[in-house]
Parts: sequence; structure tokens; C-alpha cells
Amino acid sequence: MSNSAENNSSTAKVSCDACPILCRISPGKTGSCDRYGNVDGKLMRMDPVILTQKVVDQNQALVPFGEQSTVWDGTVLNPETIFPTAVGAGTTYPDYKPAPFIIGSSHNDVDLVTVVTEGIFSYCSFKVKIDTDRYIGPEQASVRCQGEEVGHVITAEYGSQMLSLGGVHHLTGGSKQEGRVTCEMMMDLGNRNAVELEVDNGSKLVIKADAAPIIDGNQEERMRVGCGSATIGIFAQQWFGHVDEVIVVDEHITGMLSEHQAGRFLGMEPSGIRVRGRRSTPGRYFQVANPGHGWGGTDVSDPLEIIDRIKKGAAYPGLRLLMVSTTGEDAAYYVLDEDLNPCEESIPEVLQVVVDRIGENCEPALASVLFMAGAGGSLRAGVTENPVRLTRSVRGLLTSTTCGGAPAYVWPGGGITVMVDVTKMPENSFGSVPTPAIVAPIEFTMKLNDYQALGGHMNNVIKLEDMTQQREAKISKWNEENPWPFP
Ligand code: SF4
Repeated sequence: MSNSAENNSSTAKVSCDACPILCRISPGKTGSCDRYGNVDGKLMRMDPVILTQKVVDQNQALVPFGEQSTVWDGTVLNPETIFPTAVGAGTTYPDYKPAPFIIGSSHNDVDLVTVVTEGIFSYCSFKVKIDTDRYIGPEQASVRCQGEEVGHVITAEYGSQMLSLGGVHHLTGGSKQEGRVTCEMMMDLGNRNAVELEVDNGSKLVIKADAAPIIDGNQEERMRVGCGSATIGIFAQQWFGHVDEVIVVDEHITGMLSEHQAGRFLGMEPSGIRVRGRRSTPGRYFQVANPGHGWGGTDVSDPLEIIDRIKKGAAYPGLRLLMVSTTGEDAAYYVLDEDLNPCEESIPEVLQVVVDRIGENCEPALASVLFMAGAGGSLRAGVTENPVRLTRSVRGLLTSTTCGGAPAYVWPGGGITVMVDVTKMPENSFGSVPTPAIVAPIEFTMKLNDYQALGGHMNNVIKLEDMTQQREAKISKWNEENPWPFP
């Protein structure tokens, strides 16, 4: 890191070259991103570096993972229990220099190296999974924050709606305002703060990692147990004998018990009730209604709306019909009168038990936030003089890649494209610079021999205690949900 001052006086400005903005920082001030400051004429990374410590002694008093870390008081650390994260470490920009910290350690008599750096990522995004069957907007629709386009709706998954947010085109390819809003939104999302979003021709969303999503002002509670067909399959036997037809209303596949293979298997006869939409296979119907916030992710608030006709001959007076949604939140029970009109009655106890069981089998609805970024570019120069060898080492699983200690999934194919759950990372792991780009921690851990073989910066390998002498450190408890990166 450049530490150049205009003169030797502590009143001189210092230049920061930790990103392309190249701030010139007055004494006592911080640069544009607040990450670096001029402290007594020296350029300083203002946040402490975060060390995480595995608890080996249960009496050890440590702040639990995810809560505010405590300032390390200088007591001797056992390096075998410490994983140094890159949160607060600093960057390698303009990339010709070694990573801020390359820490050697020994674990079970194996010499290891952890290369610790904060990456500056323009090529990065967040993939958001929203557990709901509610319609939030059409696929490919733009997602906005403060009116700016910051992402779009991507392919829905089983029981969840999906968003892709951020990314290089919104950060740098649009207006300055679009880039600024995108960057702030991404940083908030990564740091597990709530962000307000709006889908074009869709819903208003409040998304926070690991919290229930709020859709058009309603907090989601349940993730559906399955599609309508799956729900029929799961509960068919429990309904059998107590009802003559069950229709599970679902925006994707609405299920009808008597026609469904599960009902046929139990010996049920078709009830003569026909629902709207397109029959896919017996007892499985697509497009019974438009997507919406009604029953089972449809726009239906009265379930009888989806009944197309009731066929005389097959249907009969007294036929018992249960209609239920895929979360069990909506349910109604009808008995056909002499004219085959469904007349609502209270749900018999024996059926209510099964409706409640649908709800019991629904998992809590959550928003999950995964950070995705490309670390296969110049960042590698901070690790080795021969960057492609790092890529090969990561690919060959000789090097483990973590973000703030959280395991990163490395995509197949070229580059080092990583994906990580932000809730597994320390709090406030994400920063930004005004280029605009996201700053995120990344660590590469490997055997010392392998590091040497890939052309690592061997002269820059230091011990943990050297690092803590150079920089203020905070210490927090290792997240036991994460695999320990050392042998
Ligand atoms: S924006 Fe931050 S990292 Fe970039 S030069 Fe200024 S102080 Fe340094």
C-alpha cells in the first residue's frame, strides 16, 4: 500500500492507492469509501482485521459468531485455533503487489499458508431465493431500488422465486445514479440489512438475508409443502375415505385427488368435477388461474372460481369436496346439493387435521442471499506471480477458497467464480469503493509446499503474531457451521 505523504509533516495529505479512485486524504480524515484514512500522516485501513477463533476451551469467553467482535487484547493466540479472515485486511490494488497478508501456520504438523485479501469486485452479483409461491412478477422483469434498475427476476425454483441483483452492467454500464444505488443495495444485502425492491409489473419486496421476505406489505410465513400434485401424493392416504374429492390449488400444478395416480391407486373414481386450465396428466392441471397473491400463488380468492364444470352422472348430490392451498393457509369444504352446487360447510375435524399437517410440513419462508463473484482476474497476482497456477490449484482442490471463512462454491469452467452464503460470513464483511465496486473478503488456504510450487510470494509469508503487530485485530468466534479450512 502506498503511504506517500506530500512532505514529512503529519499535517500532509496522504495518497491512497487501494482502488482506482486514488484519494488524497487530509490529516484526520478518511477517503471516499471511509475504509482508509490519514492517521498521523500515515495511510491506515480504518477497520480492524477480523480473526476468528475456534473454541477449544469451553470456558473461553468469546463473542458468538455473527455478533460484534471484540478488540483483541494482545493475549497470546494459539495459531492452531485461529483462522485469519480477509475482513478488514485491505486490498492488493493495483494488483502488482502481494496480498496484504500471507500468513503461514502449522496445523497437525502440516505447514500451511493463508493468503488474505479484500477483493474489489465489479463482476459480482447476489442471487436471492425467496421462499414463496406468491407471484412477484414475470421472469426477466426488471427489479428496481429507489427507481433504479438493479437486477431482474430469474427462473423460479421449487417453492421459491429467484432474483439476480447487482452485476457489472448495473454497477458500471448504466448511469452514475444506477451504479451508486446498485452498489449501496448490494452492500446492504451482503451485510444482511433489509433492502426495499420493486419488480416491474410485480410486487414490492423487502428482502433481508435469512429473514422472512415481505411481499407487498405481507410477511411470508410458510414455504409451500410442494406443488399441488406433490401435496396430493403426500396426503392422499390420509384423506382417503373421509372425502370424495380434494383439489389442491396451486399456481404451478393444481392437483385433483380422484383423477391423480395417488387416488386411482387407492381405488377412487373420478368425481366428475373438472377444473379450468390445461390438463397435463391425469389429476395434474396447469394454468388454472393467473399468478397472484391468492390461494396457492394464484389470483383466486374464491376457490370455486377454478371449477369449470361439474358433470352430472359422475358427480352426485352429497359428494364431499375439500379445496386447500399448498401451504394449508387456505382451505374450504363443500357438499354438493341436489343441483350439484357446492355448498360450503365447516371442515370436518378428520380433514382439518390433514390441512393442519400441510401447514406443519411447510418450512418457514426465508430469503437466502448468495454472493457471487469472479476472483479469477488480477486479484490472483496478489497470491502468485503466475496466476493461472492459482486457478489450477483451486480447480484441483489443492487450494481451499473461503470468503470471511465461509466455504465458497467454485463454479466449474474457467476462472475462479465463487458463490457464498452471506450468512456464513462475519457481519459487515462487505464494503464498497466509489468506482463503483463491491469489496469482499477472500482467502486462499493451501499447503506451504503447494504455495511455493505455484509461484507464491514466499518472501511475504509472515506469522500470525507479525500480522497482529502490524494491524489492529478483532477476534470473534469461528462459525462452527463452516468447515474448518485447515487440516
Ligand atoms: S475510495 Fe477508499 S480505497 Fe479507494 S482510494 Fe479512496 S480511500 Fe482508498
